[in-house]
Amino acid sequence: MKLLEDLDYNELTQAVSEGGFPRYRADQLNDMRLRHRDYSEANNLPKAVKEYFSERYLAQSVKILETVKGKDAEKYLFLLHDGNIVEGVFMPHNYGNTLCVSTQVGCRMGCVFCASGLNGLIRNLSAGEILGEVLAVNALKGGTPTERAIGNIVLMGSGEPLDNYDNVVKFLRMIIDPKGLNFGARNISLSTSGLADKIKKLADEKLGIVLSISLHAPTDEQRSALMPVNRSNPISELMAAADYYFKKSGRRIIFEYALTAQNSDDNSIKQLIKLLKGRCLHVNLINLNYVKERGMSGLSRKRVDQIVETLNAAGIGATLRRSMGNDIEGACGQLRNKYLSSNAAEDKA
Ligand code: SAH
Ligand code: SF4
Repeated sequence: MKLLEDLDYNELTQAVSEGGFPRYRADQLNDMRLRHRDYSEANNLPKAVKEYFSERYLAQSVKILETVKGKDAEKYLFLLHDGNIVEGVFMPHNYGNTLCVSTQVGCRMGCVFCASGLNGLIRNLSAGEILGEVLAVNALKGGTPTERAIGNIVLMGSGEPLDNYDNVVKFLRMIIDPKGLNFGARNISLSTSGLADKIKKLADEKLGIVLSISLHAPTDEQRSALMPVNRSNPISELMAAADYYFKKSGRRIIFEYALTAQNSDDNSIKQLIKLLKGRCLHVNLINLNYVKERGMSGLSRKRVDQIVETLNAAGIGATLRRSMGNDIEGACGQLRNKYLSSNAAEDKA
């Protein structure tokens, strides 16, 4: 069955006219889905419209299965219509609430420090499913289509967004659309492990969103050991793509760097400075979240502070990203994996 959230506004008006209904029904259906409501909750729609659409398009396809409240963040397990589960994280900030969403069930990039890719890629999320994560949380938090409860969106949940390129770009267009949630592009960040060709393609879409690149190592040798994607997208190509994105969008690139023993000795930091110097960028350091299956962990607070100071002293803007939600399973992918394994244990019992 098709999903109602997968239709962009033009496709929705087309579906309404194909059904022989007046055009304003599209706005009512649009309002219904933006409020994350099902057909049964749309009191202004006549029975004929509800019947016609519910036979053809599933509404409210993403549901919140579980909410885990932490000290400074709230995590969700989203249930998809086929039983798959992805996760999201809501982080309240004084400059606007941020929601982190997933773009794939699993991931096939195989970064050695990440929990999302432990079982490989299960499937892509459709544009409407990514949108559904945002709509579900907006409704949960009391937001409406015009008075949003979410200020910023980051595509940093499970999945490699540029490995699901068409659906992600359609989602971005739908959420920026004034007929959608009317988000400002500068309030949306996409994080990628570094698919160079797709970064250039994204620049050419001229969406104006913020690009974050997961760098995590200063040399090809070190980066390939942590991130297999580097073998086909070496650092020189990645930096050229980043420069192209900056030139086209005018937005400074964010480089993410998760600190762990393999990438944080003095020599690595020296090489990192050499690589990044002279570019308009910002470095987001993350102390690596412990992932049991990978046996990797972060650094001492003292060493982390030293690295921030060294980068800043070299003229490279770097800040440590506050690790939100550590008390409720920190890193991407951990929550879902924990949920699945505890349920598997129950099934066996
Ligand atoms: N696939 C995309 C976006 C999702 S991951 C990407 O890789 O960029 C979001 C961020 O979390 C990335 O920067 C990723 O490298 C980082 N990350 C993954 N596992 C982590 C861990 N154990 N500790 C800290 N950051 C981690
Ligand atoms: Fe995939 Fe990103 Fe995790 Fe790498 S860090 S495995 S690209 S989700």
